[in-house]
Amino acid sequence: MISIPRRRLLAAGLLIPLEGLAQTCGAITPRQTEGPFFTPNSPQRASLVEAGAKAPRMLVTGRVLTPQCQPVANALVDLWHADEEGAYDNRGYRYRGHQYTDAQGRYQFETIVPALYPGRARHYHVKVQPKGGRILTTQLYFPNDPGNRRDGLYRPELELKTAKSGEGAFDFVIPT
Ligand code: FE
Repeated sequence: MISIPRRRLLAAGLLIPLEGLAQTCGAITPRQTEGPFFTPNSPQRASLVEAGAKAPRMLVTGRVLTPQCQPVANALVDLWHADEEGAYDNRGYRYRGHQYTDAQGRYQFETIVPALYPGRARHYHVKVQPKGGRILTTQLYFPNDPGNRRDGLYRPELELKTAKSGEGAFDFVIPT
C-alpha cells in the first residue's frame, strides 16, 4: 500500500483535520443499580489497598468526559467494592474511597481485584458526579470473567479495558 503523507491528503482536501470536527465520545455510560452496599461519605484517597491484602492489585484509571469528549474537571468519582473474601464493609470504609478528577478529567485508584460473591460477576461499583450535577451510578466489569455471561446485570459497554494485567481503564461519559 502506498503511504501518502498526511499533509498532502490535507492539502488535497481528502482528509479533514480531526480537531476541526465536533468529536463524539459515543453513548452516555449506562446507569446501573447501586446495590445494597453503598455507604455515603467515603474517605478521599487514591489507594484503597488494605495492609496485608493478598489479592492481586488493580490500578483503575480513566477520565470523566462530556458527550462531546470534553474533560470534566473536579468530578467526584466514588469507588466501592467487595474485599478479597467477597464481602463488603458495611460498618467502616474498607475498599471505599473517592477522588476528584484533575484538569484533564482523569482519575486513578489503586485497589485490589475484588473476590467473587454468589450470584454476581466480578465488579466494582462507582458513582460519578460533576460539580453540582446529577450523580451517575454504575458498575464496572472485568473482561473475560466467566461470571459475566451468567450475570443479568453485566453489560459489555461497562467492561474495564485492560491493556496489561493489573491495570483497568474506563472513561465515563456523563450527560451535561
Ligand atoms: Fe456488588
